[in-house]
Amino acid sequence: MERYDVVVVGSGIVGLLVAYELSKRGVSVAVVDENLEPGFGVSKGHASVIHVIQPPFSSLKSVLAVHGNKLYDRLVGELGVRYRRLKALLVASNAVQLAILPLLYIVLKLLYETRGFKVGIVGGRELRDVEPNVRGWAAIAVDGYAIVDSFDLIYKLFEACRSLGVVFHLGTRVTGVNVSQDCVDIETTRGSLKASFLVNAAGLNSDYIALQTGFKVRVEGRRGSMLVFDRLQVRNIVTPLVLLERRGTKGGGVIPTTWGHTIWGPNLASDISKGDRGVYHEDVAVLLRRFSRIVKVRGRIIKAYAGLRPTSHKGDFIIAYSPTSRRVVNIVGIDSPGLTAAPAIAVMVLDMLRKAGLKLGLKRRPPSLRYLSTRDKLVLGLSVQGDEGVIVCPCMSVSLADIARAVRGGARTLDGVIFRTKLAMGSCQGQHCLGRALIEFSRMTGVEPRYVVKGGEGSWIVE
Ligand SMILES: Cc1cc2nc3c(=O)[nH]c(=O)nc-3n(C[C@H](O)[C@H](O)[C@H](O)COP(=O)(O)OP(=O)(O)OC[C@H]3O[C@@H](n4cnc5c(N)ncnc54)[C@H](O)[C@@H]3O)c2cc1C
Repeated sequence: MERYDVVVVGSGIVGLLVAYELSKRGVSVAVVDENLEPGFGVSKGHASVIHVIQPPFSSLKSVLAVHGNKLYDRLVGELGVRYRRLKALLVASNAVQLAILPLLYIVLKLLYETRGFKVGIVGGRELRDVEPNVRGWAAIAVDGYAIVDSFDLIYKLFEACRSLGVVFHLGTRVTGVNVSQDCVDIETTRGSLKASFLVNAAGLNSDYIALQTGFKVRVEGRRGSMLVFDRLQVRNIVTPLVLLERRGTKGGGVIPTTWGHTIWGPNLASDISKGDRGVYHEDVAVLLRRFSRIVKVRGRIIKAYAGLRPTSHKGDFIIAYSPTSRRVVNIVGIDSPGLTAAPAIAVMVLDMLRKAGLKLGLKRRPPSLRYLSTRDKLVLGLSVQGDEGVIVCPCMSVSLADIARAVRGGARTLDGVIFRTKLAMGSCQGQHCLGRALIEFSRMTGVEPRYVVKGGEGSWIVE
C-alpha cells in the first residue's frame, strides 16, 4: 500500500493549491480525483473573477477572499499564468440609479476601503472614454478585482505539482476513509492508500467524505449559468448599479476574459441539485434582461454553460478538523468566491496541518512554466516555426505544437486539450477543428479515435 504524508481528495483549485504549497515544503503528497483530468469539478464552470469582499463581510469566506485576492499577484507571477487586474464598474443608466449613486458610494467606500480596496466615482464622459461600449450616466469604480485564465492556473499548478513530486491518482474515486491513532486509510476504486494526514477538498462531495470521518455537514449545489460572447465588449467588469437584487440574480456582471471573449453572468438558480449543470431558458432570459441594457454592441453568443456552487448548510466556508481526529482537515462548502479565496485557504490548511503535527520543510522554488503559445506569438508578431505553423483551430490560432504541449502536460481527454489550449472555444465552437484535433490527439497518445473521450469516462465522440 502506498504511504504519503498527506493525501488530498480533490484536484479542483483548492486541492491543487494545498498540494502545491505542501510539495514546495518537501511534504510527500498524493492527490486523488474521480475525474480523468484535474479541475473538472466545480472549478470547470465559473466566471474566473478574482473578487474583493463578499457579504456577509465578517464571514470566513469574505475574510479568506480578501486575503486570497492579495496573494494572487505573487501566485500568478510565480507560475506565469494569464491574469489582469481591473476595476468593477457599477453603472447607473437611469435617473433612479443616478440618484442612489452618491449614497451607495459612501457605503461602499466605508466597506471596501477599510479592507484595502479603493472606491471612486466615474463621471459620464470618463465612463465613455474608459468603456465606450457601455451605456451609462456615471459609475462607481471599485479597484482590486482581477480576471484570471483559471485553466492556465489549474494546469500550471498540476504541472508544477508533478515536477515537485506530487503523485496524481486521477479517474479514482474515494469510497471510504478510516482514521486510526497513527494514520488514515483511504479506500478508492483503484485500491487503498495510507497517509499521515487527509485533506478533504472534494467540492460538492466534501460532505460525503467529511461524514466518513465523523463530521456531519451538508452541501447543496446552487446552479449559476453564464453566456459567452465572441468579442471583447468591455475592459473592466461592468454591472448595473442596484440596491436590492431580484430573485434569480446574484451580482454577476459583464466580464472580459483573458482570451478575448466576454462572459455575462453568473445568475443564481432557485433549484438545488448536485448534478444538474443544464442551462435553462429562464437563466438565459435573466442574464439577457439584466445586462442587455448596459452593453451597446454585443456580438454573438457562442456558448452557454452552468456550474454548481457547493454551498454548506451554514452558507459559509467550513474549514475544520474532523471531530475525532486532527489527522483530517475538511474544506467544505467552498462556493463563490472560492477561486479567489483558494490561495488563502491553502495557507490556512497548511497551518492547521502543522499544528496537528505535520513537519513542513523550507520552501523550494517551483519550476518555471512560462511559455508562449502560438496565439501569443502571433499576437506579439513573433515568428512561428515547424508545428507552430500548422494551425488546427483557426478561430483561436491553436497549432499542432500547442496540442502536443497539452498532451505532454498530461491531457488525457479532448476537453483536457480544449481547456489547456482554447481549441474549439472560438466563434465556430469546434466545427472546423474538433475532428482534426481528435485525430492528432489520437496520433500523439496512441489511443484509438473511438476510445478518445470528450471529458469523462464513456464520453466517446466517434464510433
Ligand atoms: C457559476 C459559478 C461561478 C463562479 N464564479 C466564481 C468567480 O468568478 N470567482 C470566484 O472566486 N469563485 C467563483 N465560483 C466559485 C468557485 O468556482 C469554487 O469555489 C471553486 O471552484 C471550488 O473549488 P474546489 O477545489 O473546492 O472544488 P472542485 O473544483 O469541485 O474540486 C473538487 C474535486 O473533488 C473531486 N471529488 C469529489 N468527490 C470525490 C471522491 N469521492 N473521490 C475522488 N474525487 C472526488 C471532484 O471530481 C472535483 O474535481 C463560481 C462558482 C460557480 C458554480
